[in-house]
Amino acid sequence: MAIEFGQEMEERIMASTLTESDSGEVSLRPEYLSDYVGQERSKDNLKIFIEAARLRHEPLDHVLLYGPPGLGKTTLAGVIANEMGVNIRVTSGPALEKTGDLAALLTTLNDNDVLFIDEIHRLSRAVEEVLYPAMEDFALDIMIGKGPSARSVRLDLPRFTLIGATTRSGQLSSPLRDRFGVQLRLDMYTKEELTKIVLRSSGILGIETERAGAEEIASRSRGTPRIANRILKRVRDYAQVKGEGVITKEIADMALSALEIDKIGLDRTDRRMLESIIRNFGGGPVGLETLAATIGEESITLEDATEPYLLQIGFLNRTPRGRCATMSAYEHLGIPFSGQLEIK
Ligand code: ADP
Repeated sequence: MAIEFGQEMEERIMASTLTESDSGEVSLRPEYLSDYVGQERSKDNLKIFIEAARLRHEPLDHVLLYGPPGLGKTTLAGVIANEMGVNIRVTSGPALEKTGDLAALLTTLNDNDVLFIDEIHRLSRAVEEVLYPAMEDFALDIMIGKGPSARSVRLDLPRFTLIGATTRSGQLSSPLRDRFGVQLRLDMYTKEELTKIVLRSSGILGIETERAGAEEIASRSRGTPRIANRILKRVRDYAQVKGEGVITKEIADMALSALEIDKIGLDRTDRRMLESIIRNFGGGPVGLETLAATIGEESITLEDATEPYLLQIGFLNRTPRGRCATMSAYEHLGIPFSGQLEIK
């Protein structure tokens, strides 16, 4: 068992991006708004827009979902399609390499269907330009021929809904962003909401979980359902081998400690990042690239998956000159604070 935990850590259990071991995760995805926990503000808005679109027998306006990985963007896209009673086609920005890839997808849609593009900020400029008339006029402009005899032909498309998801709405070009009538930011989940998600997932997976056990997992899942579900599966292993098969607070605590996930959900990477800012760079400011190189991580991983939670809990400040550790980070790591603290 110990070896298995070790392997799991290498894949980074706290990674909020999708990893190999999440393959069974699909079955844990809520299908309708009624079992989609949290995000009340977004859900309230969506309910009205979906209802109105259904009454008018029209597709829902294009929707942009943004927020850190693992908060439920893909899940919500599926929920929207189910609530609308339509099909969903799923793709991602990097998968749509050529304009023809997008054209092929668009022409297979039916009226009112949903096209979901994950990581939409990674679309190439050329593909993005095909998307503009498709979103606005439900049309595809195709060039036929080359040179002086080339001409453009307009092809009608079914009336569809584009749902785009991004971890970085700031990287979206404004012409693309402006074409989304509905823009929703997903927030990190509260402990109460994550407890609900853990209990719901336990039910689906057939794991007996005590409320206190679920709360322990929830408070160490850094506000992210994907992480909560992933931890739940690892704690289940622990409960079966070391306990009576039931997830209690003690079992959860024991398993999480073995996984080196601390009381507030920080793992080795988080601690290394903070420690490096403090010990190697006097608390900051330090540029992200330098920091990433120092601790041997990709800067994009730090920015997308590690930083959002550290910023949220006030352990990190992002300043124009780089990242700084805050007093709370020093306190949590038990490192005495000496010197000037950079305030934003
Ligand atoms: P994202 O697309 O934002 O990276 P996903 O939609 O893939 O995140 O969500 C990750 C996992 O977390 C899902 O498989 C699902 O099991 C769970 N999940 C996400 N949001 C919720 C929610 N609101 N309620 C219950 N489970 C959720």
